[in-house]
Amino acid sequence: MRVLLVEDERALARAMQRGLTAQGLLTDVEHTGTDGLDAALTGSYDVIVLDLMLPGLNGYDVCKHLRAAGVWTPVLVLSAKDGDYDQIDALELGADDYLTKPFSFPVLVARLRSLIRRQGVDREPVLTAGDLRLDPATRQVTRGDDILELTPREFGLLQFLLRNKGIVVTKLDILQNVWDSAHDGGENAENLVEVYVGYLRRKVDQPFDTHSIQTVRGAGYRIVEDTG
Ligand code: CA
Repeated sequence: MRVLLVEDERALARAMQRGLTAQGLLTDVEHTGTDGLDAALTGSYDVIVLDLMLPGLNGYDVCKHLRAAGVWTPVLVLSAKDGDYDQIDALELGADDYLTKPFSFPVLVARLRSLIRRQGVDREPVLTAGDLRLDPATRQVTRGDDILELTPREFGLLQFLLRNKGIVVTKLDILQNVWDSAHDGGENAENLVEVYVGYLRRKVDQPFDTHSIQTVRGAGYRIVEDTG
């Protein structure tokens, strides 16, 4: 079991390295985001412990680059920041778990072991419609050979449409699944869905002259295979 620890507080990193190694988790340490990313990209680790506030490249960016490169080694984010927003942000960027400093060492070890065990088991399959492809594990979206940059909301919308490929979903279905499960619709909310469907089409269809995302008048939307 090999662990990559990316942590710039050297005393903390040393103590964690000693502790993890004593638990049978062989641990390499990097002190900057850039060195951490280089090490992580080798893909030779079973799990990565990643601090958020790092010199060079912050933890968010390390995680984003890693997933974009198709490396899906589980990442546990470790941070002094404790706002809900930071946690959601880290998870949306492809981290698998999150611990706030100060943390309990036994909890960290238990979480790492659980991430290592889960690896490869929980992976949601890649979703496709023709040559449009969404990989939930790496959060990468591609059309043919082109990598598409989607915001988290656009990603969620596309994922929902693809999970229901060929089936008409209503604006209310979309609101409740991509925005808020308690959403009761309303005109403004439906406009919001239209706006986001527009954003998504501009990224996944218009540049490729395809019409994957169809409007079904009076009913909703449906994604189909259209390779242009
Ligand atoms: Ca730090």
